[in-house]
Amino acid sequence: MKCDPTLYRAAPPSLAVKPRLIRHLFLPPLVIALMIGLGYIGFWISEHYGIRSLSENGQRQLELHARAVESEISKYTYLPSLLELESGVSKLLDEPSPETRQTVNEYLEGLNRRSRSRAIYVMDTTGRVLATSNWRDVDSYLGEDLSFRAYFQNAVRGQPGRFYGIGSTNGEPGYYLAHGLEEHGKIIGVAVVKVRLEAMEERWQRARLEAFVSDENGIIILSSDPARRLKSVVPLSDETKEKLARSLQYYWFPLNELQPLARETLAEGVEKLTFPANSELASDEQEITYLAQTRPLSDTPWNFTLLTPLADLRREAINQGILVAVAFALVAFLLIAWNERRKVIATRLAAREALQEANNQLERRITERTTDLRASNDRLKGQIRERRQAEETLRRAQDELVQAGKLAAIGQMSTSIAHELNQPLAALRTLSGNTVRFLERGQLDVASTNLKTINELIDRMGRITASLRSFARRGDDKGQASLGKAVEAALQLLGSRMESAHLQLHRDFNDVQVQIDQTRLEQILVNLIGNALDAMQSQPLPALWLEGEEHDGKYRLRVRDNGHGIDAEARKHLFEPFFTTKPGEQGLGLGLTLSASLAAATGGHLGVEHPASGGTTFVLSLPLVSPTPAEPI
Ligand code: ADP
Repeated sequence: MKCDPTLYRAAPPSLAVKPRLIRHLFLPPLVIALMIGLGYIGFWISEHYGIRSLSENGQRQLELHARAVESEISKYTYLPSLLELESGVSKLLDEPSPETRQTVNEYLEGLNRRSRSRAIYVMDTTGRVLATSNWRDVDSYLGEDLSFRAYFQNAVRGQPGRFYGIGSTNGEPGYYLAHGLEEHGKIIGVAVVKVRLEAMEERWQRARLEAFVSDENGIIILSSDPARRLKSVVPLSDETKEKLARSLQYYWFPLNELQPLARETLAEGVEKLTFPANSELASDEQEITYLAQTRPLSDTPWNFTLLTPLADLRREAINQGILVAVAFALVAFLLIAWNERRKVIATRLAAREALQEANNQLERRITERTTDLRASNDRLKGQIRERRQAEETLRRAQDELVQAGKLAAIGQMSTSIAHELNQPLAALRTLSGNTVRFLERGQLDVASTNLKTINELIDRMGRITASLRSFARRGDDKGQASLGKAVEAALQLLGSRMESAHLQLHRDFNDVQVQIDQTRLEQILVNLIGNALDAMQSQPLPALWLEGEEHDGKYRLRVRDNGHGIDAEARKHLFEPFFTTKPGEQGLGLGLTLSASLAAATGGHLGVEHPASGGTTFVLSLPLVSPTPAEPI
């Protein structure tokens, strides 16, 4: 079963290849770009929400620690003002004398010890230290002029003096709280308490807290990381720098600008700060980013900043980003795979549908063709029927023709038959008359001899009539014949003619069984031998050769004579019916035609050869019943 190739016509390559090529070229970069984009978004969202959660947590921490700082600072707020109540201090300021100074020194020393401050001292309105708690120390403030200090300048004007700075005497940092001492509404001196706040830094470090306190100029005055102390987190203007230099607030310390590398404001009081990693906390990293939450400290111009490292959060956010990118890649891969599979299934379905359609078409065509075939088959059957009928008619006509031919042959032979029969009849009449006479005379021996001769003559006549009957009988296309018997029968039939012609007969053939009706074979041989006799009538030494040979499942019998032969014109028409060269009533022109058709009817053939030596050879070829040759005759 062949399918129509046009049903599977491939799509033109230009249309099929281009979109696929474009897809293959652009899809991977697109997926990678989306992966990176989504990964970044994942990272950003994770970081954003992480920061928000950290900042909510940090807000509480910020409040807690800022309050702790405030309480630490405010602890000493009222200490300087207490000195107003001390009569010794007023006395010293009114009339400074060595005794009063000593008394106040000792008082301040005791007070300082009890309050655990760093130092307490009293200055007159010119800024000179009159009495101090550290009067015993070598680097005591006693007698020092500290009028340049901002806290003094504020306090002498009646304002609270708050100041963080480096001591000009011993270079020690501290928090200075100054208070203008009043008497009768007039400021007569200034009381100062110096407090060390390093304890707070130590507490932060112990608690692994990262924080710092910056003053009004943005300079870090307290820091959990000592490396950041006395550094500025905002750029300092020239004016501020000059002011600071004048007040010696930070003494000789250079105020290196500790500017964060990157500063990003996230909300009010919330920033993202990136510091260079130069402290022991920042291990091996180049820089460190913090979430910085800042809150002003009450009663001071300072700010408390809580730092929460973002490294862990960032790592977490990167992981989340990678996770999102990988998840997207997986989903994209699954989608692409699913899409490819869907396309494969669609292609298969389309192919199956096309195949189904082709099958349907094929079946339709087969049905159509079957119908056509059936119709033509019916037509053919009709034609076969007609042909059979025609063949039957033809066969009948042929039979009739054969019969007619036979009868014609008998007619032709009637003279010689009559002659053949008349001779014995005349002899019989004479013999029978003689026999009667011999019997009357009593000559029984002679009568008996005559009767024997009469019997022989009657037998001969019976054989002649039997041959004629058998020749005239209707034959059959099937059946088998003995070649030897057929030749004998033909020769017997033509016996008288052969005798009168003094014919030399040469036989060289086998008595084989051939596929033809016995009578028909005899009829053919009578025709062929009869024609040969006719052709040899004027031949002084007539000779007839009957030669046989087996060839290719058939037996060939050659009937050769040395007669006058056949001229070129007659050769063309030999087998045509009613072609004859015989004069008058002698020839009907049916003999060869009938013989050829009888041979052909059994699958055999009758042909003619014209030997160069003269005469004519007719070749009768008939199928053998058994290819094994019989005994030679
Ligand atoms: P008919 O014998 O009645 O003429 P045939 O069909 O038997 O018809 O023969 C046709 C013709 O073929 C004969 O008239 C004769 O001319 C020629 N023919 C047949 N056999 C021979 C033969 N052996 N030799 C020469 N001529 C022959």
